[in-house]
Amino acid sequence: GKGLAVFTSGGDSQGMNAAVRACVRMAIYLGCKAYFIREGYQGMVDGGDNIVEANWASVSSIIHRGGTVIGSARCMDFKQRAGRLKAANNLIQRGISNLVVIGGDGSLTGANLFRQEWSSLLDELLKNGQITEEQKTKYAVLHIVGMVGSIDNDFCGTDMTIGTDSALHRIIEAIDAIVSTAYSHQRTFIMEVMGRHCGYLPVVTGIVSEADYVFCPESPPPSDWPDKLCDKLIQERNAGQRLNIIIVAEGAIDRDGKPISAEDIKKVVVDKLQQDTRITVLGHVQRGGNPSAFDRVLGCRMGAEATLALMEATSESVPVVVSLDGNQAVRVPLMECVERTQAVAKAMADKNWELAVKLRGRS
Ligand code: ADP
Repeated sequence: GKGLAVFTSGGDSQGMNAAVRACVRMAIYLGCKAYFIREGYQGMVDGGDNIVEANWASVSSIIHRGGTVIGSARCMDFKQRAGRLKAANNLIQRGISNLVVIGGDGSLTGANLFRQEWSSLLDELLKNGQITEEQKTKYAVLHIVGMVGSIDNDFCGTDMTIGTDSALHRIIEAIDAIVSTAYSHQRTFIMEVMGRHCGYLPVVTGIVSEADYVFCPESPPPSDWPDKLCDKLIQERNAGQRLNIIIVAEGAIDRDGKPISAEDIKKVVVDKLQQDTRITVLGHVQRGGNPSAFDRVLGCRMGAEATLALMEATSESVPVVVSLDGNQAVRVPLMECVERTQAVAKAMADKNWELAVKLRGRS
């Protein structure tokens, strides 16, 4: 059978294990040899014990675990051709020419580059005497398929990324806890949530926690936000509310692009309203803990579909990323999604928030 390897790269997220499990089991079911690559691209470059054959049992009891049990890493070596040459050799020696990459747009871009470069890497390996003519012919094409693991839901082309739903669960558990204590003492709480360039977590959190004010990167407030914020807080208190909740994305900015931090907001509320105000920074709690049912199912669906996509790939087919469209796991062209995601990043950097939001929507 064909050799297939799965790895996780970039930031971790809950549900990656479900995806790894489904991908491995579908591969075994289809008669392939399935491998894990530990520690992302670093393990691919280093080889050795980092690339291990998986069996049915080796992915048991991981679906409920957060993070990624096979490890993830950022890898400078893979950004250099020399690193990718080593990686290619490590794969060929194990008969692997099918890769499932679970990561963000950086990891997917790297995989696509690797695929494009593959035949020239094989030429070099052959010239160096590291692989045989027979191996070069047999593994002439590298097939790749991507899945996006990210709690930020910041990838274009999928309704949800793996991990976002679990992160929302972590956040609302924390806010519910804060709300009960805030109520007792009539306090105002500022909750900092993740989302450097993408407001999905802060906006959805704001809706489901009845927050009074949300600062998110795509909708920067005008410079008089302190007055608007205070008016709103007072209005809510006058309506009988005993507490206020303010959500701030870690990447919140004003219309001039100046960062707005939880401390900035606290200073405004304390100075203008003298409210008893506290900050809670959720940080990595959001990435941790068990994946939600949604993320487990999402990982299962996407992982199985990823393996199927690889097995059906031909030398002519364009690489795909498995994404969620409504309730379906579907295949969409990988580079189109990556390019759109990068266009969003550029639009954000150019302070063209309207364009960023438009590009993020369904095409
Ligand atoms: P994410 O996948 O979450 O966007 P990064 O952008 O840090 O995270 O990418 C993860 C890893 O993918 C990098 O450490 C590097 O090894 C690899 N990678 C990213 N971009 C490229 C690239 N342009 N060329 C080669 N490898 C890349």
